[in-house]
Parts: sequence; C-alpha cells; structure tokens
Amino acid sequence: MHLRYAFRMYPNGPQRSALARAFGCARVVYNDALRARETARAAGEPFPKTGDLSKLLITEAKKTDERAWLGEVSAVVLQQSLRDLDTAYRNFFDRLKGNRPRMGAPRLKSRKDNRQAVRFTANARWKITPGGDLSLPKIGDVRVKWSRRLPSVPSTVTVVKDAAGRYFCSFVVDTEPGEVLPEVTPEVGIDLGLGHFAVLSDGRKIDAPRFLRRAEKKLKRAQQALSRKARGSSNRGKARLKVARAHAKVADARREFHHHLSTELIRENQAIAVEDLAVKGLARTRLAKSVYDVGWSQFVSFLEYKAARYGRTVTRIGRFEPTSQVCSHCGVREGPKPLHIRVWGCGACGSVLDRDINAAVNVAKAAGLAVSACRAQVGPGLVPAQRGEAGTHRDGQPTVVGIPAPLGGGAAEVNPRRRSGSGSSRRRPP
Ligand SMILES: [Zn+2]
Repeated sequence: MHLRYAFRMYPNGPQRSALARAFGCARVVYNDALRARETARAAGEPFPKTGDLSKLLITEAKKTDERAWLGEVSAVVLQQSLRDLDTAYRNFFDRLKGNRPRMGAPRLKSRKDNRQAVRFTANARWKITPGGDLSLPKIGDVRVKWSRRLPSVPSTVTVVKDAAGRYFCSFVVDTEPGEVLPEVTPEVGIDLGLGHFAVLSDGRKIDAPRFLRRAEKKLKRAQQALSRKARGSSNRGKARLKVARAHAKVADARREFHHHLSTELIRENQAIAVEDLAVKGLARTRLAKSVYDVGWSQFVSFLEYKAARYGRTVTRIGRFEPTSQVCSHCGVREGPKPLHIRVWGCGACGSVLDRDINAAVNVAKAAGLAVSACRAQVGPGLVPAQRGEAGTHRDGQPTVVGIPAPLGGGAAEVNPRRRSGSGSSRRRPP
C-alpha cells in the first residue's frame, strides 16, 4: 500500500532562494517542452520524444546564454519536470479517448501558481542527514519537523511550496498492511448529520471541533477583509496572503480532525458503514455548501485506507437508499421529511425516532451490519437532561435530549470517547 507522508520544512534564507531557483528552472523546462510539443502538433510533425526534449531543452540549453542558469539546479529536478509533462499529456490523451472533451490540454505553468513543486529521485542523491536534516543537491541541508516516523526509506522526495508560503517535503512510502488490530465486536453506521459532522448509529453525534470552527471563522473574516481591498493595491496582496494562510489553517485543522476521528472509529469498530455521497451530484443543491465544508469524502477516504491497513471493513452505501425515510425499528417507509423535522414518530410501530441517528442505523443495516435500532429511538417522549450534561446552556433552560444543540453551542467535541459519559443520557431508559 502506498501512503504519502508530508512534513513541514523550514529552509533558511539562502535555501529559500535556491528552492525558488529550482521551482523557476523546473517551470521553464516544463513550459519550453510544452511549447515545443504544441508547435510540433500545430505543424503536423510527430510528437517530440521526451529523450530528445531532455537533450535539447536541458543538456543543450545549458550551453546557451539564455538558459545557462539551468546549470544552477539539480538536473534531476529538470528531468522530473519533463516527466510531469509526460504524465499530464498521457492523462489528457486518455481522457480524449474516453470522450470527455471538457478536460483541457496541459497548460503553461506560471510564477503565480499557488503550488510550486520539484521532485528529487534517488539519482539526485538526496538524503536524510544523521542530524535529521533533509539534504538536497544544490540547496543544502534543510531543517525538517518530523512529526512521525517513516515506516521505510523512500526513494523520492517532492518539495512543495504552498499558497501560504509554507514548505513541505512529501514522500510516497510503500507500507506493509501488517499491523492488523485485534478483532472487536462493535459495528457502526455513520450518517452525515445536519448541523453535525457525523452521527453514529450508536447514538453519538460528533461536531467539528472548536479549533476547526475557530479557523473557519478566521478564514471568513480574512475573506471579507480581502473583498474590501482595492484591486491591484499592495494591501490587497497582503490580504490575499492572509486568506491563503487562513485557508491552509482550515485545511490542516480539518485534516487533523478527520485523522483523529477516523483512527478512533477504526479502533473501536470492526465494521463501518458510511453513506456514499456522490458529492458532485449534490453540488447544485442547498446541501452543497455544508457537504463541501465538512469534507466528507476526505474523511471517508481516511476511513477506507485505515480499514485496509488495520484489518477492518468499511462499506459505502449508495446515496439512493432512503436512509432518512425508513423507520429503523420496523422498516416501514414513511416518505420524505422536510429538513427541519429532527424527531418523528413512526406511524406503523409508534417509535419516536431521532432523524439523524435513525439514518445512521439505516446506513448500518443497509450494509448488513448488526446494529440495534433502539439507539435511534428518542423514547416515549422527550426527556430533559441534567444541567451540566452535553448540550448548550442558556438561561438555565434544560437541554432537550434528542434535539441537536444549536450550532455554535458548547456541544462540540473533538474526541467522541469523551462524550460517551454524557451520551448515555440520550439513550432510552431500559
Ligand atoms: Zn416503525
């Protein structure tokens, strides 16, 4: 199994200049090759081979005055840039064969692109020094924050600079799927909640953690500030960088949350069922924003790779399963319900069901998992919770169990395990 490991890098001043040079040279070679191929195509000549382009645009070009500076960077970086163009063309031609005309041909790279990257293969003789620096040819020994251990020695490293001006080194590592976790009995269905990040068939409702919501708020403010700046002004440039940084923070916080939660769920459950939201299909509906915001597909992909790695099962349930319309207790289909209906009573069996948990139970059942439907039941009536339990507290009003707390309240939790203490109050009394 191939996994990508990325670590933050902290190049010093001269190293940043050297990296800027490498990004620039890689871009120039890429663009030169792209132009050569487009010229050949327009003239009806055969498609120039990569080997020929490498000779012409790297080896020979270095001898000319206009391109002499290509010699200042590692030749591997330039060759890899040509390989990237090959891949871009191959993808483009594959898509043409698949009759998908909307995909464009490879495009020229710009200095202003949000993401700059260069790749060093084993040929470049990069290495990790005994002191833990990343030693890159013609750049130097760059300080790296190793946030976790690499399971094996990678042969290739990609150095990336993102829109927020941060540097990363990224490795693709071949890992063994050997660390199978001991088997456990619980199985769980997960539904994309409304107003919650996820709702589990065992009755837990998981909100985005506070650090993520704080980052999102900051991003929103930065975007508003940017929209007020005059076009082309230097303040606009600064505001744009702030937005890029805030975006990066949100993406990081979200990834951290998804990692945390997916690890936890994989540890606790033998089998997991999730709804397969074809996110693009929802793009034009009113759910679109929230679906994109919560990054459901990233979360599901984390669940899937961790399941494959640790010997668990993740099943996707098609999005046409009417998970919110069927009573998870007796199986009778009740028909569509408007989004504001959070708790409903089944006309057939009389169960009072929490909309979200009921859907999560149905997701689990559709995947053939053994979950009980009782978690979806709110009970014979709504039960007020003790003060001090999960939920928001306003003016001494008791939190009503089964009704999700208002957005922005104090119900957010990163760690679902910590919720389990108060979660019991949500369950039906025996
Ligand atoms: Zn029923």
